[in-house]
Amino acid sequence: MNIAVQVCGLINTIVLLIFYKSARRLELYKRRIFYYILIITVIDIITDILSVFAIHFRGNLSPVLVEISCKLYLCMLIVQVWSALIYTISDIMPKQKHIMVSSVLAILAIIECFLVAKYPIYIFENDGTVFTYGPCVKLLYFFGVVNLCAIWITTFVFDKRILSRRKYAVRLWMGIWLAGMAIQAINNALLVAGFAASLGMMVVYFLLENPEGNIDKQYNCLNSIALSEYAGECILNEDPFVLCNISMDDSMVHKGRNDDTEKRQRELITYLNTFNGINVFKNFDKNIIITSGGRDKVMEAVEGFRKRYMISDPGLADSKVILLEDAHSFTSLEEILRLIDYMKSRRNEDDESIVTVTEKNVEDYEHRDMMRDEIRRALHDDRVEVFLQPIYSTESKRFTSAEALVRIRNKDGGLISPGLFIPVAEETGQINELGRRVLEKTCEFMAGSEAESLGLEYIEVNLSVVQAERMTLFEEIMETVKKYRVEPGRINLEITESALIQAKDAVLNNMNRLKDVGFTFALDDFGKGESNLMYLVEMPFDILKLDMDMTKAFHVNDKAKSAVRTVRYMADDMKLKVVAEGIETREELDAFVEYDIDYIQGYHFSKPLPMPDFVRFIKKSNEGSRTA
Ligand code: C2E
Ligand code: MG
Ligand code: MG
Repeated sequence: MNIAVQVCGLINTIVLLIFYKSARRLELYKRRIFYYILIITVIDIITDILSVFAIHFRGNLSPVLVEISCKLYLCMLIVQVWSALIYTISDIMPKQKHIMVSSVLAILAIIECFLVAKYPIYIFENDGTVFTYGPCVKLLYFFGVVNLCAIWITTFVFDKRILSRRKYAVRLWMGIWLAGMAIQAINNALLVAGFAASLGMMVVYFLLENPEGNIDKQYNCLNSIALSEYAGECILNEDPFVLCNISMDDSMVHKGRNDDTEKRQRELITYLNTFNGINVFKNFDKNIIITSGGRDKVMEAVEGFRKRYMISDPGLADSKVILLEDAHSFTSLEEILRLIDYMKSRRNEDDESIVTVTEKNVEDYEHRDMMRDEIRRALHDDRVEVFLQPIYSTESKRFTSAEALVRIRNKDGGLISPGLFIPVAEETGQINELGRRVLEKTCEFMAGSEAESLGLEYIEVNLSVVQAERMTLFEEIMETVKKYRVEPGRINLEITESALIQAKDAVLNNMNRLKDVGFTFALDDFGKGESNLMYLVEMPFDILKLDMDMTKAFHVNDKAKSAVRTVRYMADDMKLKVVAEGIETREELDAFVEYDIDYIQGYHFSKPLPMPDFVRFIKKSNEGSRTA
């Protein structure tokens, strides 16, 4: 009996099955399908061996039984090939859809089995070698080749949606199977189809389904590949899941126990593994991720570890936890991890240790992401524009300066206002390039012949604190002004008061260097939020800009009036000029003129204007003031 090859294949597949069943693995839908295929392969090879036995001992058995056993094996082959197709498409469509498609494929498999079973089968046996032949076997070969090719083609049709490693494994698997069938078709006595199927299973096992590939051996938990597969499947199937990131970075560093970080992480993971209903993953850096279908299970584990280590290792118990409910509503794990990073970057020391991501957080994150891309594209396509808002001197009764205000022109020609993108640019660091561009365009404007005729003394340029504290700020600014041969004295740099709180020393250093070569400085938004008069005392400002809120309060609140009066006296004493921002009406203008405010800026005169409009405005207005 020529069953040696089949027996090898059977042992092979049973060993795989045992390995697979006994290994710790992540329960996934596609994994279950793979497990069923392993069982089908075992049954297939057993029916193969049984059919050889039936043929061999056909003298003692009824012909119907022999025929049934041979045809059962052939039908199992068909079932196996179809189930391979079901496996191949298991992670490119949602589970519900996949079940529907699989049902249709199962009907096709039944039809094929029915047709194969209908046709006659003949048996050949000579000198211990047995095989079957005839129309039934020919039909099986036909279906086998067509079905295998269908799977092969499927991997090309869904080329973009099937992972490249999966494509490679499935194609190899189909190749081995086709080769097995071809050998058997050419030499009927070589019954290698079953063995080829078992070899194919080995390929898929080791390339795709090896549970070991999902394990982080160092930490004895699931790894980032497993996380990506788990999240990918939940997102595809819209299966709700909660994801919780435990980040150990801060606690480890702060408690000065860096040396045993790894050991402590391992300990925490071992503890988390004792909870049922959660998956524990070790992600990159010092992040542990736990997932579960429901929030309660995750919280049970989180509260459990915090309580457990509260006394023995407070640093560990204090690890920052970010909890993301409805994680399935995101488009990919990468997006989820980017959101987690964003949440981490925004954390304050005094935040609660467990932070639940809110809808607002997600909206802010999406806005930041979109804005970051928009800023990047705008910088690349040169869609960054500088508008100028005229500033009126109450002494000379004409416009003597202007504030440069950045705008991004979107692709449709509309304008994006700085309130939307400056905070993002500051967070992402793009403000440095953006600020450089604004200064460059301002200098270019000032160097032009038209600007000279306007009689502007200087232009105010906003400096974000991110820029103001940069070590290379001085060199960068000097490079730009030198390029356009603009006198430093014609640029006044505005720094916002609230921003100074974080980085006073670094900013002071840059200010002193820039002042030495002739730049002047304005303290922007004075009176907004927490005012600290010490900035005025300690830092070399030349101009103080009253915030718009202060300007507005001035008209409705007597206390604001006395505050403005006091600021005016103080500014005089300190030899500072004062600008009132946000003057919108004639009454407001008159009131501030009466208070002897040096400069007025606001919509009453003009909104910020594109450069050509600004030139026209100043020419017309200053012309008028001269003739008046
Ligand atoms: P800011 O520096 O305090 O600029 C004044 C803002 O008040 C400008 O808003 C201006 O259009 C607006 N404004 C002026 N007069 C009036 C008025 O009468 N009524 C009202 N309602 N608003 C008035 P904008 O252009 O939207 O800029 C907002 C903020 O964005 C600026 O506040 C500044 O902090 C920042 N920004 C603008 N351009 C730049 C830049 O090039 N670099 C940096 N780092 N920040 C910038
Ligand atoms: Mg300003
Ligand atoms: Mg301001």
